[in-house]
Amino acid sequence: MGDNIFVTSPLLPPLEEFMPYLEKIWQNRILTNGGEFHQHLEKALADYLGVKYVCLFSNGTLALLTALQALRVTGEVITTPYSFVATSHTLLWNGLTPVFADIDPHTFNIDPARIEELITPQTTAIMPVHCYGIPCEMQKIQQVADIYGLKVIYDAAHAFGVQQQGESILNYGDLSVLSFHATKVFNTFEGGAIICHDARTKQRIDYLKNFGFAGETRVVAPGINAKMNEVEAAFGLLQLQHIDNALAERQVIYQHYCEMLDDIAHVKTLSVPEDITWNYAYYPILIKAGFPLSRDEVYELLKAEGIFTRRYFFPLISSFAMYRGLPTSSEEHLRYANDIAETVLCLPIYPGLTFEDQQRIVSVIQQAANEKLRLLAVGYTL
Ligand SMILES: *Cc1c(COP(=O)(O)O)cnc(C)c1O
Repeated sequence: MGDNIFVTSPLLPPLEEFMPYLEKIWQNRILTNGGEFHQHLEKALADYLGVKYVCLFSNGTLALLTALQALRVTGEVITTPYSFVATSHTLLWNGLTPVFADIDPHTFNIDPARIEELITPQTTAIMPVHCYGIPCEMQKIQQVADIYGLKVIYDAAHAFGVQQQGESILNYGDLSVLSFHATKVFNTFEGGAIICHDARTKQRIDYLKNFGFAGETRVVAPGINAKMNEVEAAFGLLQLQHIDNALAERQVIYQHYCEMLDDIAHVKTLSVPEDITWNYAYYPILIKAGFPLSRDEVYELLKAEGIFTRRYFFPLISSFAMYRGLPTSSEEHLRYANDIAETVLCLPIYPGLTFEDQQRIVSVIQQAANEKLRLLAVGYTL
C-alpha cells in the first residue's frame, strides 16, 4: 500500500521563490489595507483572467456576502442545491430566502428551464454556480433575468481561468465571485475576489469590504472587514507565475483518467463542452445503478486503501437543517440533484498526482467491482 492520496493538494511554489516577496513586505511595513501587492495582484489577475475589474477579498464566502450587499439584493434568490454550503449560507447571512431549482443532470448546473416557474414578486436575483468550473447556460439565465429584472451573481469559486468561445465566463452576469482557498485551482492560502464590469461598482465593493470607509472620516455603508492582506496578495502574484504549468498538468491527469475509466461499465464521467477552455478543477464520476458496488462502498474501499475521495456534493444543501423546511427543498422538486448527490464521487486531481497514483486509484475501483461480480456469480455477497 502506498502513501495516502487526498482529493486535492495545494499548489505551493518553491519556498525560496516566496522569500523576496516577504522581504519586500518587511521593508514596506505595509501589511494590509490595499498595499502594493494587493494593487498589483488586482491588475495582474484582471489581465490574466481577461476581465475588467477584480476586487480582492480575504475569502470567497465574504466576497459572496458582499456581492449580495453591493447589489442590494432582497427577498428571494433562486439558486442551486448542488454546491458547497457557502453558496446558500451567504443568502441566509443577508436575510434572504434561498429558492432551490433543480440541476441539469449532464452539466450539474442549475437548469435554466426551471428558473422561471420559481419567480415570485419577492424574487430579486439568481445565484447560479459554475459547478466544477463547467459554465452555466449563461445566455439562457440572462434572458430570464432580463425579462423579470433580476440580478445575476455567479458563484464562480470553481471557475478560475475558464473561458467559453475564447472569453472569460466571469464577464457574464452582474457579478462573479472567485475563491482562492487552499483547495482551489489557484490559491492565496485563503482568499477570493469579486469580478465586476465598471469602475463605480468596483468603488462601491471596495468601500463595502473596508467597513464602508470612503475616506479618513467618511463612512458610506455598513461595510465589513473582508480585505486580503499583503502576504496573501504576494503569494497570489507568485502563484500566477506557476498557474499555466499547473493547469497543463491537470489536463494531462484528466486525460489519463478519461482513458483509464473509459472501459469500466456503469461509471460515468463528466462531459466537457467542446467550446470551453476548462481548468480541470475536479474529476467527478457517477457510480451508476448497474455498477456492482454502491457509491458509498467505492468511497469506503478507496478510503481503506488510503485514497481519500470526496462526495462533492453530498449531502445536498437543501437537506441540511437550516434549509430542509423550505418549500423548494423537497426531494420530488430536486430529483436530478438528489440523484447526482447519491452517485457522485470526486477523484483526486492536482499537480503532482502521478500516473502510478492514478493507476492505483482506478485499479482499486476496477478490481473491487470484478471481485464483487465474481462473488455474486458464485452466490455470495461482499
Ligand atoms: C470554496 C467554495 C466557496 C467558498 O469559498 P471560501 O474561499 O472557502 O470562503 C463558495 N462556493 C463554492 C462553490 C466553493 O466551492
